[in-house]
Amino acid sequence: MNTQGRPTGIGTLSHAGSGSALIPDEPLLFEIGDTHHSGVDLPEVEIDDSRLGGFARKTKLDLAGLTEPEAMRHYVRLSRMNYSIDSGMYPLGSCTMKHNPRLNEKMARLPGFSDVHPLQPVSTVQGALELMSQLSHWLMTLTNTSAVALTPKAGAHGELCGMMAIHAAQQARGQGHRTVVLVPESAHGTNPATAAFLGYTVKPVPAREDGTVDVEAVKAALGPDVAAIMLTNPNTCGLFEPQVIEIAKAVHDAGAFFYCDGANFNAIMGVVRPGDLGIDAMHINLHKTFSTPHGGGGPGAGPVVLSEALAPFAPVPFVRKAADGGLEMVEHSEGEALGRITAFHGQMGMYVRALTYMLSHGGDGLARAARDAVLNANYVKARLQDAFSVSFPDYPAMHEVLFDDSSLAGTGVSTLDFAKAMIDEGYHPMTMYFPLVVHGAMLIEPTESESKQTLDAFCDTMLALAADARGNDKERFTGAPTRAPRRRLDETRAARSPKLRWEPEEAAPAAAAE
Ligand SMILES: *Cc1c(COP(=O)(O)O)cnc(C)c1O
Repeated sequence: MNTQGRPTGIGTLSHAGSGSALIPDEPLLFEIGDTHHSGVDLPEVEIDDSRLGGFARKTKLDLAGLTEPEAMRHYVRLSRMNYSIDSGMYPLGSCTMKHNPRLNEKMARLPGFSDVHPLQPVSTVQGALELMSQLSHWLMTLTNTSAVALTPKAGAHGELCGMMAIHAAQQARGQGHRTVVLVPESAHGTNPATAAFLGYTVKPVPAREDGTVDVEAVKAALGPDVAAIMLTNPNTCGLFEPQVIEIAKAVHDAGAFFYCDGANFNAIMGVVRPGDLGIDAMHINLHKTFSTPHGGGGPGAGPVVLSEALAPFAPVPFVRKAADGGLEMVEHSEGEALGRITAFHGQMGMYVRALTYMLSHGGDGLARAARDAVLNANYVKARLQDAFSVSFPDYPAMHEVLFDDSSLAGTGVSTLDFAKAMIDEGYHPMTMYFPLVVHGAMLIEPTESESKQTLDAFCDTMLALAADARGNDKERFTGAPTRAPRRRLDETRAARSPKLRWEPEEAAPAAAAE
């Protein structure tokens, strides 16, 4: 193996083998503890069954008994198996894993924000409402739009909200016969899923050879039955759609709406206002663009900005100036609006983090961050383009750069093998096999938060791995990862039949033997 001695992401921290050295294999909590002990002394209690409405437990609780240090060490050891943006570069394209400034965390922990309760009287949460109002103002100003729904809890939820607003607007106009939604082939899976979930028929728009969407193809697909197009800009190939304005015009001329997937807003924030391009609705992933922690299923927030035509259909609740000069929460819809899509007001902690990021950068700082994100992606592209094949070389990359697997042709190494070998070098792999429009996709998004040194170390590793792949050390890839706590997993089985319950051995000997 000739890959030793080169700079790596987190270096020797990943030399774990299988349960060796400083990252031991970690058994389940139930396997460490036992049901006969307890970490605390509790008096026996007599529970009167009649107060539990017949739901009293009939069997023993069987929780694992652990001392405080045993419990603490278990979770700390698990956390050390986790790769995160705090431990190294995370070049996952489309996901925008950027550094989360600690100032955001400090602000989110201010008791006035972290301890508010959604059912508190509004007179006692004026500061929180003011923050939501300011965040709304920033989002509408950055996008040049007329309204914003803050409540959606992720990008996909924002898509649902935006498409529901479009649906409501068309019902109000007597246009309920519009049942088709156009979705370009390169789209993120959530776009067709959202349209289908709402009962629309999804009609794909083919991608051009150069990775962009052709206005002529959109025109050909438009018709009196089309409700909307869902277009991502910059798109998932990392390209700014050159005909986006013509596409918006064609869509509007046909009486349809333009939903923009704004997950890639980090490439253009402060530089381009999507409202100027003709969008009607767009979600913004606060957890991507505005640097709030995400991944691993952590909280997200996907506010949706709306054009003037869609503004009357925004869901409740939203913040509004009250007659007495204070702020109030509008809790009930009027007219044809959507009603409510979440129980309460959305992810307050994410709002605080996002507004902190906006205020600490300022308008000019946000534009600079977008430009730096694009610069970093183009730097990676320039350094890697001789060894990896750039899928769409005709355009400059935006915030991410897309390679396909043609440079690996004949090596016997697949995109998956290559990604697994990156783990051995201490890097989280890039996004693989997405978007679907190129073969064996490798989508790399460095974000603005990485330094030139970090990018150089990453590119050096990628170039050395590419050279190894073309050498004759195929095993180094097909056998990878060898230094991670786990080797290759049966990912399909893990996803299709996850084992989510621990059962005591005597009750389930078959499961325990697996
Ligand atoms: C991340 C992403 C989404 C979905 O956003 P979530 O917050 O993960 O639901 C949709 N479209 C694109 C292009 C994305 O990158």
